[in-house]
Amino acid sequence: VIAMGQPEHAKVTTCAYCGVGCSFKAEMQGDRIVRMVPYKDGKANEGHSCVKGRFAYGYATHQDRITKPMVRERITDPWREVSWEEAIQHAASAFKRIQAQYGRDSVGGITSSRCTNEEAYLVQKLVRAAFGNNNVDTCARVCHSPTGYGLMSTLGTSAGTQDFKSVEDADVILVIGANPTDGHPVFGSRMKKRLRWGAKLIVADPRRIDLVKSPHIKATHHLPVKPGSNVALVNALAHVVVTEGLIDEVYVRERCDLKDFEIWARFIADERHAPEAVQELTGCDPAEVRAAARLYAKGGAAAIYYGLGVTEHSQGSTMVMGMANLAMATGNIGKPGAGVNPLRGQNNVQGSCDMGSFPHELTGYRHVSDDATRETFEALWGAELSPNPGLRITNMLDEAVAGTFKGLYIQGEDIAQSDPDTHHVTAGLRAMECIVVQDLFLNETAKYAHVFLPGASFLEKDGTFTNAERRISRVRQVMAPMGGYGDWEGTVLLANALGYRMDYTHPSQIMDEIASLTPSFAGVSYAKLEELGSIQWPCNDKAPQGTPMMHVDRFVRGLGRFMLTEFVASDERTTRKFPLILTTGRILSQYNVGAQTRRTANSLWHPEDVLEIHPFDAESRGIVDGDLISLESRSGDIALKARVTERMQPGVVYTTFHHAKTGANVITTDYSDWATNCPEYKVTAVQVRRTNRP
Ligand code: SF4
Repeated sequence: VIAMGQPEHAKVTTCAYCGVGCSFKAEMQGDRIVRMVPYKDGKANEGHSCVKGRFAYGYATHQDRITKPMVRERITDPWREVSWEEAIQHAASAFKRIQAQYGRDSVGGITSSRCTNEEAYLVQKLVRAAFGNNNVDTCARVCHSPTGYGLMSTLGTSAGTQDFKSVEDADVILVIGANPTDGHPVFGSRMKKRLRWGAKLIVADPRRIDLVKSPHIKATHHLPVKPGSNVALVNALAHVVVTEGLIDEVYVRERCDLKDFEIWARFIADERHAPEAVQELTGCDPAEVRAAARLYAKGGAAAIYYGLGVTEHSQGSTMVMGMANLAMATGNIGKPGAGVNPLRGQNNVQGSCDMGSFPHELTGYRHVSDDATRETFEALWGAELSPNPGLRITNMLDEAVAGTFKGLYIQGEDIAQSDPDTHHVTAGLRAMECIVVQDLFLNETAKYAHVFLPGASFLEKDGTFTNAERRISRVRQVMAPMGGYGDWEGTVLLANALGYRMDYTHPSQIMDEIASLTPSFAGVSYAKLEELGSIQWPCNDKAPQGTPMMHVDRFVRGLGRFMLTEFVASDERTTRKFPLILTTGRILSQYNVGAQTRRTANSLWHPEDVLEIHPFDAESRGIVDGDLISLESRSGDIALKARVTERMQPGVVYTTFHHAKTGANVITTDYSDWATNCPEYKVTAVQVRRTNRP
């Protein structure tokens, strides 16, 4: 229910959708929200907003909200409403029994990029200190985990190098595997403004996305790279830079590890990486690739912006390293207008990664095997920590199917809809003996849960989110939690019931603890956030006001490190039976699995997922626009309507996964990034046929 009328009071808070992290004034009448007004002083959005943040907040008070804790013995039993105390005791008893029966490592937790930094921090603390293992993961696993690996390996930290404002200084913008118009609309508008004022644009994307050609913008080069061949393309761009003498030699000599550079330069100069040699593989015209490489290297300050079209591949981490190589070789990191920037999908992907939500890292990206780091945490937490990396989400599900992983606490994440190869995910969930879901709605994952704890929407939370430019912003509570407790309080109750004491009374105390344990957050506090409005980490004695641009004089790791990026084809191949490649993505009005936006009027703009298909592929199958089609892969098949469009290239089809009734992830594969297990959502061999099946 959205109340209409004049506001009685307002609080500044942060949008809970994408990684731009726009600030809004939430205007209230009593305890009901009237409207969300974009906040002029918000540094990420400067008073702008998109249709999600501005209008799609009604889900917070939607009738589907579950506001009472519930339990059941078996997933076939009906849910039974209980008190918080009974639900927490039920969960704690089950986790204790499972660990006694199957061992300490048989349980784990998953946190979410929808959660605040403080909530994510507490979930990983609960897993490490109360469960006694490192079996914690986050949904960043399935989106930007390759960013973490790739940027850490080359530059020394897992974050974008620039602030959003820096796009205004870019002379050349290279967009790879991202569609900012739909995915990051407010930053997309900022980028378009710079393009209208004269910056040159290179787009590498299998689709003719809006940026390629729109009324006031035309990409200088569109490289229609085939899904699965990104690494061959970035190697080809680097090959041109090396073989045509376009290296920034002074920068490389002063800033990078020369031994690694020389090995890399010899590797990349090999003719097998030439644009002509990989033309068939990439689908890109060699002359365009050469011209794009020259423009990127010599066109002035050049900035790379990339998205999940980079990371969600079996070579996602390799591709991130390839882009960092290219930027270092041309001197395009650490100066105004230049950098390498992941466009984070969800509001707090950056923050959930920063908070130690991966099974191998504590906060601030420090490995669990590092004795000194672990000892610092052990002293403050009063718990012995395991030096062994824990299980990733995919490993948890594999071990559940194998019968050795039995219990899971999931906060704010719907893995049954969002993760690939749904049949495998649900087989893993079915095999567990205790699943605790803490969420707003009875989502797809909750169908397999034994305990349901009511979650709190962003309007009910106090805390912080960290956006794609490392900007930490306050989330302020404007409504009391409808379920009685905030998400962080649920974690505290569970930890205490498990016998591990947590004593916080406000999220600001959790941030103080994070700051005391994490060098890059050492100067962050709620008081400073009140004073400055927002802070970009690192924020500490060396940078008390925060850090808009990283790697200015030296890389965080010291010398920049060039990595070898050999192209390896995906194991997913087209065949006569499955001759097309499916790639997936998002649209402007909807958001991820749609749990929020489907419960708002935004659904009117996109009531169902459709399959985009090129006219050539449609015609050869007798398909016309609006036909119901069957989309089949080796994993399964689904039905949806066709949209025939020249945005697609022949041989490649595209859909979104916003609607559970379509279930696009039923057909995606279980192949994943070699380094991080990020699923290869972007490459699935499929066949498309007309069908009458509804
Ligand atoms: Fe929210 Fe992203 Fe839209 Fe900004 S651009 S209003 S953060 S969804």
